[in-house]
Amino acid sequence: MMIYLDNAATTRPAAPVIEAVTDCLTAHWGNPSSLHRFGLDAQLGMDAARKTIAAAIGAEAGNILFTSGATESSNLAIRSTAASRGRHKPHIVTSAVEHASVRSTVDALEAQGMRVTRVLPREDGRFYAEDFLDAVTPDTCLITMMYCENETGRILPVERVFRTVKRKRPDILLHCDAVQAFMKLPVHVEDLKADLMSMSAHKIHGPKGVGVLYVRKGVHLVPSVTGGEQERGLRPGTEAVPLICGFGAAVQYMQPTVRERYEKVAKLRGETIARLQALPFVTINSDEAGSPYILNFSVAGIRSEIMLHYLEEREIYVSSGSACSRGKKSGVLTAYGIPDSLADCAIRVSFCGDTPEEAPARLTEAVQAAHETLIHKS
Ligand code: PLP
Repeated sequence: MMIYLDNAATTRPAAPVIEAVTDCLTAHWGNPSSLHRFGLDAQLGMDAARKTIAAAIGAEAGNILFTSGATESSNLAIRSTAASRGRHKPHIVTSAVEHASVRSTVDALEAQGMRVTRVLPREDGRFYAEDFLDAVTPDTCLITMMYCENETGRILPVERVFRTVKRKRPDILLHCDAVQAFMKLPVHVEDLKADLMSMSAHKIHGPKGVGVLYVRKGVHLVPSVTGGEQERGLRPGTEAVPLICGFGAAVQYMQPTVRERYEKVAKLRGETIARLQALPFVTINSDEAGSPYILNFSVAGIRSEIMLHYLEEREIYVSSGSACSRGKKSGVLTAYGIPDSLADCAIRVSFCGDTPEEAPARLTEAVQAAHETLIHKS
């Protein structure tokens, strides 16, 4: 049986999602801006999805902006803040382990003259709220930090940082990349005190190419793209109605079983850690207290790509543990103090509620076989 353990990269679309997308493409294919019944029909579908997603994070439908994905959501949030506030307050606080969608955006703004403080984890590999708070200066305009880091699954103290900053410095905008947490960990905008939050459909069994930016009431955004009045003029262009309806269906599908899924993946991850730890040549790169959905480990001496393909031949699908983009390492594992020799051999496995029970055993046996075959051969 095939074992897919790359759910942090993307998840398999759920049957109700496929149904919702197909239904939109075949029956409700109107342009939501059209004034006739086909337009209204499309508009109603989109409104329902907006309401469902908003309710899932404790927001109002009016605070939900549809985008092409979390990358666009984070770009819009960060660039807009820099454009509207950066001249007077040119400082951004972020973490050193952000996904490329935030990291590269912040880097680009730095190249244009903004100052950036990238908070590192401490020696124990964990992030502390105090370190983010200490990084804030009188000219800070934005804190952008992820909820759950996507390479090892570490959880950042977003709530503690945002709550404190909201109280002491309400002038600072607070953005959270919640992609790996949404529908997996508790994500509620009022608890988090986020002003802006990015989410993506394809990590929760929805379609690719659609995301959301939550925008707190009263936060003024500057659009990056100009055009029509769709999405309050903040994200013009005819809406991707089938994808948006698919996103709504994914949330509807996931929501009743969030707890059940969490417990299941926590058990799977716990068992995988225990089995891998019994192999003396395996190093666990994740924090046991991290998200139960993600586990990162290294087998010294077997480079990630070699191991990935070895596992693929055995129908186990994983990801290279150090997210590479065009051969360039993200540096996330390095930020945790993991040496290059292990980072080059890192494997990320990521679970979902549908991961089969035998995954930990199958994975561990295959890793052991890889070690026996590949190390002894070389
Ligand atoms: N942020 C995190 C933490 C992610 O894991 C991803 C996806 O890989 C993204 C952002 C980008 O999401 P999207 O593919 O919707 O642009």
